[in-house]
Amino acid sequence: MCGIFGISGHNEAARLAYLGLYALQHRGEESCGIVTCEKTRMRSHQGMGLVGDVFKEATLKTLTGNIAIGHVRYSTTGSSVEKNIQPFLVRHQSCSMAIAHNGNLTNTLGLRDLLEGKGSILQTSMDSELIVHLLAKSRRKDRKERVVDALAQLEGAYSLVMLMDDVLVAARDPFGFRPLCLGRINGSYVVASETCALDLIQAKYVRDIEPGEIVFISGKKLESIKPFPERRHAFCIFEYIYFSRPDSNIFGKNVYQTRKRLGRCLAKEAPVKGDFVMAIPDSGSYAATGFAEESGLPLETGMIRNHYVGRTFIQPSQLIRDFRVRIKLNPILDVIRGKKIGVVEDSIVRGTTSKARIKTIRDSGAKEIHLRISCPPLRFPCFYGIDFPTKKELIASRRSVAWIREYMELDSLDYLSLSGMLKSMLLPECEFCTACFNGKYPTPVSRKHGKDMLEKK
Ligand code: AMP
Repeated sequence: MCGIFGISGHNEAARLAYLGLYALQHRGEESCGIVTCEKTRMRSHQGMGLVGDVFKEATLKTLTGNIAIGHVRYSTTGSSVEKNIQPFLVRHQSCSMAIAHNGNLTNTLGLRDLLEGKGSILQTSMDSELIVHLLAKSRRKDRKERVVDALAQLEGAYSLVMLMDDVLVAARDPFGFRPLCLGRINGSYVVASETCALDLIQAKYVRDIEPGEIVFISGKKLESIKPFPERRHAFCIFEYIYFSRPDSNIFGKNVYQTRKRLGRCLAKEAPVKGDFVMAIPDSGSYAATGFAEESGLPLETGMIRNHYVGRTFIQPSQLIRDFRVRIKLNPILDVIRGKKIGVVEDSIVRGTTSKARIKTIRDSGAKEIHLRISCPPLRFPCFYGIDFPTKKELIASRRSVAWIREYMELDSLDYLSLSGMLKSMLLPECEFCTACFNGKYPTPVSRKHGKDMLEKK
């Protein structure tokens, strides 16, 4: 889970990258960085923490050049330490390279063995570093061919932006797991994980970078190639359910409207007889709107979110996570007391925050609580960049819906069906990766890889 941004041919490149990352902050709160290039000299600033804290006006001034890439990070592969911050910057022979990666490769073990066997000394535990080594090792003379040569060896999920000297390269894996879009501002090209980053800098959305496409942007000129065989797409459906910002359009559809459709479909599949519908804010808010519309029940605000607290799962320590559950949401007692309530949430992952929130609603005097989840039970880990690490940690992988209902002390619990979820997407079913729900991984994932990923957490 990360956000990436790139811009070429703009004299405010660093500042626009900063704003772009600001808009993508929800994709990772652990660390961030920007690299710019002036002629062939790269400049970089990075740090642990939020974009607004890591970058100050004075630092942005030092990031000169009219081409920039940036990254916000939540670690899925590689631990949360300073040397793993991206963009990852190297100098090799006469070429400077920087890379920012969103996604997770599934052949990291094989690639590490291969590279170390050939004498590479790897500095980080990030799979993104492997891409830089593959680029440096390629025997092809031409930049374009070297990129194709390196990317052809990758398996799994990658949306990338790279600086190769003063050329901005953007690429998306042939399955298209993670989103990546192309925009324009004053004739300059911009690449970003989500369209909300284009909106903030008032860039115009042009199109998505297509699955399997590589673009080379030099100044204000763009060249696109699609060197890999076409294959089925595997857009991450969880981007729509939870991860992307609702004001973004990804994979050709608006996230907010998709979430509303999920809520509508959920209300048809699992109606609630109650006094009103409320969301667990903010993640459940958009599905709750659709649920209320479809069911004809009033939509109430039963909990207020403290906006000065980040997403609860973003700090990867159980102690902090539980603490954050308590400080993040405050119930409105006078709304909840004595009422039969349909509560809508986007997903249940580990079950810990949902249980705590349901307890808060119960302790506030709710008479009945009917929890509705706008996706099916999450039963399988993701190897493509979403943080569902172990099967063991996913509550629905070990427990039945009835068990979870009892554990959370609910009057009823229902999840949206897989077919209902897919129908709500308004895109052909075969376009999506639904592995976290049904275990059907679109690429081979070895057990060893899974185990390795878990040990690195
Ligand atoms: P929990 O009840 O502890 O499983 O927390 C689940 C809530 O956290 C969901 O309702 C989501 O809003 C949010 N969430 C979504 N994705 C993740 C994730 N990958 N890890 C943890 N929490 C997530």
